[in-house]
Amino acid sequence: MGRVLIKNAKAIVTCDDRDQVFYDADMLIDGPKIVKIKKGLSDDPLLMTGPLAEGMEVIDASDKFVYPGLVNTHHHFFQTFVRNLTTIDYPNLTVMDWIDKIYRIFQKIDDDVIYYSSLTAMADLIKHGCTCAFDHQYCYTTATGKRPVDRQMEAAAQLGIRYHAGRGGNTLERENGSSIPEAMVESTDEFIRDCDRLIGLYHDAAPYSMRQIVVSPCQPINCYKETFEESVKLARDKGVRLHTHLGEGESEGIKERYGVRSVEWCESMGFVGPDVFVAHAWELTPEEYKVLARTGTGVSHCPAPAVLGGFPILDIKWMQAQGIVVSLGCDGSATNDSSNLLDTLRMAYLMQAYHTKARGGCVTAYDMLKIATINGAKTLGRMDLGSLEEEKGADLFMIDTKGLELTGAIHDPKNLLARAGVTGPVWLTMVNGRVVFRDGHLTGVDEERLAREGEAACTKVLRDQFRSIWI
Ligand SMILES: [Zn+2]
Repeated sequence: MGRVLIKNAKAIVTCDDRDQVFYDADMLIDGPKIVKIKKGLSDDPLLMTGPLAEGMEVIDASDKFVYPGLVNTHHHFFQTFVRNLTTIDYPNLTVMDWIDKIYRIFQKIDDDVIYYSSLTAMADLIKHGCTCAFDHQYCYTTATGKRPVDRQMEAAAQLGIRYHAGRGGNTLERENGSSIPEAMVESTDEFIRDCDRLIGLYHDAAPYSMRQIVVSPCQPINCYKETFEESVKLARDKGVRLHTHLGEGESEGIKERYGVRSVEWCESMGFVGPDVFVAHAWELTPEEYKVLARTGTGVSHCPAPAVLGGFPILDIKWMQAQGIVVSLGCDGSATNDSSNLLDTLRMAYLMQAYHTKARGGCVTAYDMLKIATINGAKTLGRMDLGSLEEEKGADLFMIDTKGLELTGAIHDPKNLLARAGVTGPVWLTMVNGRVVFRDGHLTGVDEERLAREGEAACTKVLRDQFRSIWI
């Protein structure tokens, strides 16, 4: 990796502690990290001529706004090939009915579908400014074997996105109270052994790491207690993070089974802490939110399924006042139909207006950008990412402000994305100092070929299932 000079950016929104915005400024990147952000860097003859300038790529960022790369903290890439089907907004369909239907499709998935659906989701993320993605991969079938995360690592490396793989899984059999088809149930031992294998093979904890592993049993209601207990042991032993779905409608079911609701259940075994983040958390009591705050447990907010399922809208301003780190996730395409995190960012902001009158104000548009950037990085334990500052990883995206659709709205770069919204792909996305998307093109891949192959894999494995189960 060489040096890159981003020259004459119209605005650089840093999302740093001081909320600085640099106007008409330059940014110097060396290898994976940002070296300097300053006005007039490109006027320095020492930098622009001689040996230092040799091989340096110069990106003319006139008319561009530059933002820290978005960080996605909850997704299920494998669901990308079940988009545009009946989802949880279908009349008279309970969440359990929906799970029952959708799992009948999931159980047919093979590792080619995992690979191509992950490529599709990651490409959508990159095109809309996401540079670091967590995925909760819990689809293990007789056809995928234990290969899904390996195939996803392959896909992430091809596209150049930073990838945190959540090794998910379900262990409770249907006859013992879960909603999981037999073909998708693993034993706790199998699950833990494969998490251990993946940590050994892929987890890189060094600064600017491109890949990490998160131990992520799918959800309390579909796992044995020992699965969660063993997950805690393994993650703490290896120094990796923990993740699960929590407070998404299972709390009373867990109480029936164990006598306590799911937050207390998780706390009792240590599945809370600054190294734990959970998805959704929309059904928690104020006391349960305070447990998350006290223990430093993060919450990934996924607005799309909340809207489609009619679930309560998190009061993010109140949660943040308690001390909870809230981040943002697309969630799987079965409950979003999109992997566009810029779209999710705006949706999340608009939904917060629900709390404006009732609670005396809600988060601002700029707050929501920080939730999607620096908070996402904190959630994943990436203190080297999430803002544009010297020594941080060079993860960023740029939008072109010259388009007619943004005319009249560009006076406030901090609030622009969540308030006015950017509807199309960004102009450029950079990960770890490398341009992975520019001017409509993913760099280094044959996008048309991958799309053709992905469509063929989807047709071969899934299309008949759509017809027999859904349509
Ligand atoms: Zn989910």
